[in-house]
Order: sequence, then C-alpha cells, then structure tokens
Amino acid sequence: MGTHLEARRLNSLADYWPVVVIGAGPAGCLAAREIARRGVRVLLVERDSFPRHKVCGCCLNFRGREALRKAGLNDLLENADAQELRSLQWSIGSRSVTLPLRGGVSISRERMDWDLMKAAIDVGVVLQDRCSAEPGEEFPNHRLVHLQNLQGKRQISAGLVLVCDGLSSRSGKPVIQENSRIGLGTILPSSSKYAESNKLWMNVSKSGYLGIVHLEDGRLALAAAADRSAIREFGSPGQFAMELLRSARQPIPESLEYAQWQGTAPLTRKNQIAEGRLFRLGDAAGYIEPFTGEGMAWALTAACAVVPLAITPWLPEHRVAWNRIYREKIADSQRKCRLAAKLLRSPVCVSGLVGISKIVPGIAARIVRQLHPVGSN
Ligand SMILES: Cc1cc2nc3c(=O)[nH]c(=O)nc-3n(C[C@H](O)[C@H](O)[C@H](O)COP(=O)(O)OP(=O)(O)OC[C@H]3O[C@@H](n4cnc5c(N)ncnc54)[C@H](O)[C@@H]3O)c2cc1C
Repeated sequence: MGTHLEARRLNSLADYWPVVVIGAGPAGCLAAREIARRGVRVLLVERDSFPRHKVCGCCLNFRGREALRKAGLNDLLENADAQELRSLQWSIGSRSVTLPLRGGVSISRERMDWDLMKAAIDVGVVLQDRCSAEPGEEFPNHRLVHLQNLQGKRQISAGLVLVCDGLSSRSGKPVIQENSRIGLGTILPSSSKYAESNKLWMNVSKSGYLGIVHLEDGRLALAAAADRSAIREFGSPGQFAMELLRSARQPIPESLEYAQWQGTAPLTRKNQIAEGRLFRLGDAAGYIEPFTGEGMAWALTAACAVVPLAITPWLPEHRVAWNRIYREKIADSQRKCRLAAKLLRSPVCVSGLVGISKIVPGIAARIVRQLHPVGSN
C-alpha cells in the first residue's frame, strides 16, 4: 500500500488558503479532491498517519459507489478488490434469515481512505498529516484555523473551512442523544467459520448489534453499536461481541477472544451544519446509529454536493444554501435510518421481521432492504 507520507513542517505552510479541509476520511478527501480539481488551492489536515483503520462496518452502498463514479473514481473499488455483497443474513435469538443484496461492496477503511487521500494529492491537494486542526474565529475576509503537531503550533487563515473530522468533532454545538449507543470495531484474520465472502452477517440483540463482513484480503471486519450499560455489564467489547453472537446462535471466530477493539464517541448526534465561512460534512455534521450502513455514502454525497459553494467566493447566503442542500441530499435519507435505529431497539420488532421473512420472503426482503439499504438499488 505504500509508505508514510513525509510530515510537512508547519512553518512551511502558506498563511492563507482559499479552502482548508479538516479530517481526511471519505468526506474530507473527496471534498478536497473535487474542489482542487476545479483549480482552487486546498489544504487537507489530518490528525492520524495513513493508512489507518477506523471503526466501521466497511460496507459501501450503491449511493456511495455512485458518488465515487460521478467523481471519476470508478476504478478505486475495483483496483482495491472490493468484495461485492450478495447476501445479508439477519439473526436474532433462534431466528435467522438470509436475503439477497445487490449494489454494495465491502472494503477496508485502511485501503479506501488511503486511496481517496492519494487521489486528492494527485490533483494538487496539499496534505498536512499527523496534525490536529480546530476552526478558530471568523473575520470579515477569512476564518482562522489552529494547527498543532509534534513540532508545535501554527495559525493559518482560510476563505472557507470544511469540518470533516468525524464523530470526534469538538467544534460547533454537537448535541448527543441521551441514550446514544457507542460504536465498536475490530479486524480479525480470516476464519473458517465465516468462509463465505460476499455476505454480510447482521446479529441483533436487545443491547446492540454486530455486523461481520469479509474484506478484500479475506480478513473479517466486525463492527457493533452497543449500549454503554451492556459493555459495563459484560466487562469488555470482546465479551459483549461473544455474548451477542451466542445469543444469535452464530459461530464465534477463532481469534475473537484476543481481538483489539477500538471504540467511538456516542453515535447519535446533531451539529450545526454551517457557520460563517465554515461548513460541516460527514459525521461531523451529525450521525445516527449505523445499522443501515450508509455513513460513508452520506459523507461522499455531501463531499460532492459542497463543491459548487466551496469554489465560489464566500457570501453570507452560503450558510442558508448549505443547510438547504444538506437537508435535501442527506437529512432526508437519514430520517429512514433514524426509524430503523428506533425499530431495532425493539427485539420483538426485529424478531417479528425475521419471522415474517421466513414465511413471505419477497415482501420481507423489500422491507429489510428499505431498512438496510447496504446494497439495494
Ligand atoms: C460501528 C460502526 C459501523 C459502521 N458501519 C458502516 C458501514 O458499514 N458503512 C458505512 O457507509 N458507514 C458505516 N459507518 C459510518 C462511517 O464509518 C462514517 O459515517 C464515515 O466514516 C464518515 O466519514 P467522515 O469522513 O465524515 O469521518 P471519518 O471517516 O471519521 O474521518 C474523520 C477524519 O478526521 C480526522 N480527525 C479527527 N479530528 C481531527 C482534527 N481535530 N484535526 C485533523 N483531523 C482530525 C480523523 O483522524 C479521521 O481520519 C459505521 C460507523 C460505526 C461507528
């Protein structure tokens, strides 16, 4: 996959950038690339060093693929050997059903985010990695951005700041839902117990759910949304996952016991979409539990949608415009996800749905596809 990119010295950066993008996940990388492709100078600031994994179910649905296609990045998934997802197994308690899926793929976040970052650099985006950024005060002609890395601190200014720093975003006024679940994830070596590639296993219990999918190199990505009280009760994410798999009568991958888990901040949240000379995109703009596996598609769709505003000199009306565009392109499809998340809090509902699926697979497949559009088109 390549080696680390050289850390740029903070004091070698220009004082002013027309666009500064904070965070190099799917939202940040694609937005930076699409803006730079239109001839605007873009600085992309990323806290981590790539390639890196992040907590994610690693399923990209057809809307996410469509956003990549529109950006001319058709080959990215194929070159990475992304796996087509052809079936979804839903399991709860003793009930289990397998339904067809189409249009979605699985791909590791190490690979996808790294390839997106390289695609951005290829069109002239300047990357400052291993550097943390926070938006600062707004002035009539610019907004400050505070940068910090191991070498020190630096302040630069930007015509527009795109905040794409994910769930850890501290800027704005994030409002976190009280009983919000947290995200958990790990990557395991391939397992004979989960030999079928092209399949997504979703296991549901009253305290959360756990998805398992094959990655392009045969490893397994496990990602869960869990009640915080359940993690306390079981003592660790690994125990929670094993208990969930047992309750759904599913096999436990050999190496699960020794897995290193990563966690996230509470998932369900809202944030301000726009401020003066600042737009939020992706998880930084708000997030809902990931059952429907759409977060990357929302991030990529928002990245494409922001371009016309980002390449136009700033006008105060842009705040209203970004709120409207965001509502039309993203918030409407998030409503369905919110409904799914609510239904999934009721094991009786899920169990009923799985039961119906067995009796009337055609109708149930349609309902499940609506709730879980990882692969539908
Ligand atoms: C358990 C779970 C399962 C999921 N499963 C799926 C799935 O199957 N399919 C799907 O589409 N989505 C899924 N998602 C959602 C998906 O992971 C996110 O919606 C998606 O990553 C959002 O992209 P983003 O670019 O907004 O943020 P991120 O991908 O989180 O990227 C943000 C980047 O910003 C960087 N950053 C953070 N703070 C700073 C800072 N101060 N300065 C500089 N850089 C910073 C981070 O290092 C990171 O690289 C899942 C999420 C969870 C929690």
